[in-house]
Amino acid sequence: MPRIRDKSKSKSKLKTNMANNFTNPAKVRWESISKEFQEKVLSNVWCSSCLKATTIINFSGRINKGDLILTGQCIVCSKKVARLIEGE
Ligand SMILES: [Zn+2]
Repeated sequence: MPRIRDKSKSKSKLKTNMANNFTNPAKVRWESISKEFQEKVLSNVWCSSCLKATTIINFSGRINKGDLILTGQCIVCSKKVARLIEGE
């Protein structure tokens, strides 16, 4: 089912926890990814402390060797977690 999004409305709300700590190239890459995939990525980060997939919070982004790297904290235990999104 397609959902209708009002971009001008949702923007200010969404920005609070997202994309503020991204380097410029990382931001460009991140914003080129669909919202659906972003959400999938953010809620599917391996935590080596919880030993399961978790949600990443307070994350920042950078590009390393063509891959987008997100680093942040596990929503459950607050330990550091990272997620790599491969470049094409
Ligand atoms: Zn954890």
